[in-house]
Amino acid sequence: MQSWYVDQWQDRGLFLEATFTPFAFGAHWLRGAGAELVERLAAYDHLGVVGVHLSERSEGRVALTRGGRLRIAYRLRDDDAASLRYGIARAADLHFAAGAREVYPQVGQVAALAPGEQGDRVERARVRPAELRLAAFHPLGTARMAADPAAGVVGPDGEAHDVPGLYIADASILPTSLKVNPMLTIMACARRIAATLADRLA
Ligand SMILES: Cc1cc2nc3c(=O)[nH]c(=O)nc-3n(C[C@H](O)[C@H](O)[C@H](O)COP(=O)(O)OP(=O)(O)OC[C@H]3O[C@@H](n4cnc5c(N)ncnc54)[C@H](O)[C@@H]3O)c2cc1C
Repeated sequence: MQSWYVDQWQDRGLFLEATFTPFAFGAHWLRGAGAELVERLAAYDHLGVVGVHLSERSEGRVALTRGGRLRIAYRLRDDDAASLRYGIARAADLHFAAGAREVYPQVGQVAALAPGEQGDRVERARVRPAELRLAAFHPLGTARMAADPAAGVVGPDGEAHDVPGLYIADASILPTSLKVNPMLTIMACARRIAATLADRLA
């Protein structure tokens, strides 16, 4: 399903990728309600999807509240939001170049774009970061790997610095965004940590 990609704007942290989503998972991205939505759903087999991936500089925190409850916080920076709007406008360029009649940008109140509207209505529009409809497919780095305990949660062998005997071997240990789909790298890290652990237990 990932048939092609564009890495031309990686200096902006952007990676565009064809990622078509099946109906049950992707139909909520369409805009409109009632008869208008039904019309768009009926044309689902005419839909093309471009995923606009951002390797962002924004940061979040995973922590506990005073009452001991889990608290996850994340704030998208203005410059990252601007990069996303730039990427969405370029994705619209691609769709229109391929013959699309309308594009659904997932930006603020803009339900659909007609050819040529993406510059003013997406790229240069005054849109707050919270008005972008985003999804996190590749959350990484909540328990970063670092040799220095002050810089990360686990060491190079996956063992937690603060809790001897606790090993972490999933997406959370990657220190930073990979700028590309991470599954193979996560699997390679997990395999390496598992092998180290097996040696220690042998
Ligand atoms: C829709 C979608 C499409 C994606 N497509 C791609 C792609 O094409 N290429 C790519 O490289 N990446 C893709 N990704 C990203 C990739 O799937 C993730 O980065 C990767 O799976 C993360 O691996 P993980 O081992 O950290 O976590 P997961 O794969 O999420 O594994 C966590 C496991 O822990 C289990 N679990 C959770 N809580 C408990 C508990 N309390 N007790 C026991 N088990 C528990 C869960 O059931 C799950 O099996 C996609 C992600 C999404 C959401």
